[in-house]
Amino acid sequence: MDLFISEPVSTAKKIKYPAQVTANGKLKRSFNASYYGKHPWLEYSVQDDSVYCFYCRHFGGTSNLPGQRYGSRPFIDVGVRRWKDISNFIEKHTRSDRHKDSAVSLMKFKAIQTKELQPIASVLMTDRDNEIKENREHVKALLKVTALLGRLGTAFRGHDKTESSTNKGNFVETCNLLAD
Ligand SMILES: [Zn+2]
Repeated sequence: MDLFISEPVSTAKKIKYPAQVTANGKLKRSFNASYYGKHPWLEYSVQDDSVYCFYCRHFGGTSNLPGQRYGSRPFIDVGVRRWKDISNFIEKHTRSDRHKDSAVSLMKFKAIQTKELQPIASVLMTDRDNEIKENREHVKALLKVTALLGRLGTAFRGHDKTESSTNKGNFVETCNLLAD
């Protein structure tokens, strides 16, 4: 199954952002599309008239910071729409550890998609495959030595198997020879 994640929608720039009316009914604010260029992670929700973080929504994990719970994490599960302070909110979010981790995770995900990086499962599989292959070769070699010594009718075991021994027996000596 291919998992495809697209970047935040750039066509959102063409959207007309609703203006908010302040308490005195005069000053109107709305989201400004110029933020897109500065912050590629920013995504605007027409439904909520608020902004979210594309990176953290997809790659931010589920852990919460102290005092946070689902539905209270700005830019992740609750949109931010305080346009007056949006620059500060954006800067603070950009500097957060969670956001930095999410950005790294997204980069890794993209690298896997473009085959620059192998998924960890596939690396583990390859290691395991190689290990199995190697073990098979070892067993094959041991069986060949056993068959040869059996055919020659020679003794398998030696009398002195200590590390310093110059003759540890036909089986051990032949195996050592193959292992070199
Ligand atoms: Zn983020």
